[in-house]
Amino acid sequence: MTIQRNPTRPVVIGSITVGANHPIAVQSMTATKTQNIDATVAQAEALRAQGAGVVRIAVDSDKDAEALAEIRKQTTANLAVDLQENFRLAEKVAPFVDKIRYNPGHLYHHQRDKPWQDKVRFIIDQAKEHDCAIRIGVNCGSMDPAKKEMYDPADSITPMIESAREHCELVDSLGFTRYVVSLKDSDPRKVIEVNKRFAALRPDVPLHLGVTEAGMPPDGIVKTRIAFEQLIGKGIGDTVRVSLTLPNDRKPEEIDAGHSIVEDIYSGRVRSVVVFDDTSLNIISCPSCSRVENEAFIELAASVKEMTEYAKDYAITIAVMGCRVNGPGETDDADLGLWCGPAKVNLKRGTEALGAFGYDEILPKLKQELDNLIASKS
Ligand code: SF4
Repeated sequence: MTIQRNPTRPVVIGSITVGANHPIAVQSMTATKTQNIDATVAQAEALRAQGAGVVRIAVDSDKDAEALAEIRKQTTANLAVDLQENFRLAEKVAPFVDKIRYNPGHLYHHQRDKPWQDKVRFIIDQAKEHDCAIRIGVNCGSMDPAKKEMYDPADSITPMIESAREHCELVDSLGFTRYVVSLKDSDPRKVIEVNKRFAALRPDVPLHLGVTEAGMPPDGIVKTRIAFEQLIGKGIGDTVRVSLTLPNDRKPEEIDAGHSIVEDIYSGRVRSVVVFDDTSLNIISCPSCSRVENEAFIELAASVKEMTEYAKDYAITIAVMGCRVNGPGETDDADLGLWCGPAKVNLKRGTEALGAFGYDEILPKLKQELDNLIASKS
């Protein structure tokens, strides 16, 4: 199948280049505790050996940044870091990585007195000084509330595009073009729409594609494939991540899944005439990362999937998230949401918090809520 790729500009990330017709790079993220240097190096190496073009690591503190310096010495993987609210960490991590990802939605939380433009300038200065690429990573679940308020509440796509657009314009104006953009949602249809619209607006900017919190395989792979086929098949997308909820020793399966989807699309083995089925139960769950609050998370996600099987014919979305960083926001759009704390799991019905329950209590509570929801639909 001949695919005419969008004319994106080249972006060098360590030893690879994305964009400008370079092969579509497949990425992943470590799910070990960043401060567990041996485990994180082992996972980064396992991902690299499986063909990961970039391996992302979460860094939330000075101690994580110190661990990163050591990890850098022990792996040849191209490394990216994921910054959350603490944009100042860019200064500590930039010397050790090939790419920094920042989320525009997170620059509004920390140091509210400082305009987001100054924070972006700070991050870009670090990237310039230390030879790093940047990803402007917009995520549906962590949008700036003020930005969302400017648009119809039913339209989650336009605020994402506007956020990406204004960040690109600022970064361009700083004379920095070594960046990619991602626009992620857990619904593949929205991923398709938001990326198509952004690619039409900025065909020069390389896109990192992903369906966030796609969940466990095989469902998570199917959801991702639906989005990628519609985008990559039309020349949109320069690097990809398949976000799967997997135990640490199976993390390289994300890379296999990414490569096989891309290869299938290029060989014309396109399967998803499949329209995303929204008449059945949809479980979304995060792929976990260093921020996960309790190691029982992966098991919990698997148990939720198993326990809720009886509701498979209902159009209900259940979100299971690993931490308080993204858990509260990313569960807002689900009918029922769970997000993990160190000792308790928080349960939500829509945006309403229902309380926190022990790891051994949460499944019966969830079942009760699910039964109520089913009864209200019958
Ligand atoms: Fe990591 Fe938390 Fe996102 Fe899960 S929800 S991938 S634990 S940041």
